[in-house]
Amino acid sequence: MNSKKKGLNTICTHIGELEDKQHKGAVSPLYMSTSYAYEDVDVKRYPRYFNTPNQEGLCKKIAALEHTESALIFGSGMAAVSTALMAFLKAGDHVVLQQTLYGGTYNLVNEEFSKYGIEYSFTKGWNAEAFEAEIKGNTKVLYIETPSNPLLTITDLESIASIAKKHGLTTIIDNTFASPVNQNPIDFGIDIVIHSATKYMGGHSDICAGAVASSAKNMERIFQLAKNFGGSLSDYTVWLLERSMKTMGIRVRAQNENALAMAYFLEGNTDIEKVYYPGLPAHQDYVLAKKQMKGFGGMLSFELAPNLDASQFQKALRLIKPSMSLAGVESTVLSPSKTSHALMSAEVRASQGIADGLIRFSVGIEEVEDLKEDILQALDAIKK
Ligand SMILES: *Cc1c(COP(=O)(O)O)cnc(C)c1O
Repeated sequence: MNSKKKGLNTICTHIGELEDKQHKGAVSPLYMSTSYAYEDVDVKRYPRYFNTPNQEGLCKKIAALEHTESALIFGSGMAAVSTALMAFLKAGDHVVLQQTLYGGTYNLVNEEFSKYGIEYSFTKGWNAEAFEAEIKGNTKVLYIETPSNPLLTITDLESIASIAKKHGLTTIIDNTFASPVNQNPIDFGIDIVIHSATKYMGGHSDICAGAVASSAKNMERIFQLAKNFGGSLSDYTVWLLERSMKTMGIRVRAQNENALAMAYFLEGNTDIEKVYYPGLPAHQDYVLAKKQMKGFGGMLSFELAPNLDASQFQKALRLIKPSMSLAGVESTVLSPSKTSHALMSAEVRASQGIADGLIRFSVGIEEVEDLKEDILQALDAIKK
C-alpha cells in the first residue's frame, strides 16, 4: 500500500505489512531466516544487513510515519543514536549537543568521543542562540532533543534547521518523547530523526529497539556504518514491534489526553508546587510546542510542596508504579535525581532546574479518574 495521503492510524496499521501469499493470514508472516539463496536474487539478504523481509517492511512504516524516504531499525535506541552520530562525525570534527539530553546519549559522548578524536560542546540553554554560540569552524552536527527529559523544554525545530543550513551542518533529533504521532521534525527542516522504539513505538514495556529515519542519501551513509557496527534487531522482535506500532496512534493520542488532564489536575492541587508540561499555557515553551507539535505527549514532571517527601509519595502510590523506563500503556513515575540524573552533581542538576524532589510522570492509558484518585490517596497518606 502507498503511504501517500493515508492517515496516521492507517499507516500504523497497514504500511509495510507483508502479504501471506501461502495461507492468506491476516498478519505479516515472520521470516526468521539468517540465510537466503544467493543465486538469481538481486538483494543479498542477511539480518545484519538490515534487509530481511520483516525489517524492510517495518522500515517502510517508520519512514511513512516520519515523512522520510527511508528508515532503519536497530537493536536499541542507543544503537540508533551512536550509529547516526558516528556516521556524520570523524576525528577532528565537532558536534554541538543540547544541554539537556537523555542520560545514555550524554554518557556515549562523554565517555567515548574523545577516544575517537571527536570534539563536542553542550549548549548553555536550548534556544537557537545557545546552539549558534557553540558552533566552530569544524562543527559538523547539531544534536537536539525535544521535548527534553525531564523538564519537557521545547527546542525550536525551524530555527535550529535554519542555523544549520546557514553553517552547512547536519541536524539530528532524538524524537523519542514526542513519538511520530505528535511531532514530525522533517517537516520543519531537521535532517535525521531518531527514536528509542523501546518507548512509544513499542509502548508495552517489553521491546528494546531503536530507529533512524531520513533521506535515502543520509540513510545510505548510516547503513554503511550500521552493517559494520552490527546493531541490528532480531526479526522476532521486529515482528513484535510491527504489531505494537499498529496501535501507536490510538495509544499515544490517549496518553496525550490523559497527560493534559493530569497536568491541569496537578496544577490545580495546592500540594503540588510546580508542573512541567508543554501543553499547559503556563509552560515557558507553550507557544512553540503548539506550533510544532500535534499533541503535547504523555510525559510530564512535577514537584511536591516543600513540606512533602517525594520518595514517600512514590511509595504511597498504588496504581502508578515506580519504573526506570517510560512510555508504556501503564502509568509510571521516577525520581530523576535518584536515577536518570544521579551521576550529575547536585550543582549541575540545580543549574538545569532539576530539583531533588522532582517526579517524572509517564502517563499511561488508564482511566484518568483512577490516576487522579491514586495521586490524592498518596498525598493524603504522606500528610498523616
Ligand atoms: C530510552 C531513550 C533512549 C535510549 O533508548 P534505548 O532503547 O534504551 O537504548 C534514547 N533517547 C531517549 C529520549 C530515551 O528515552
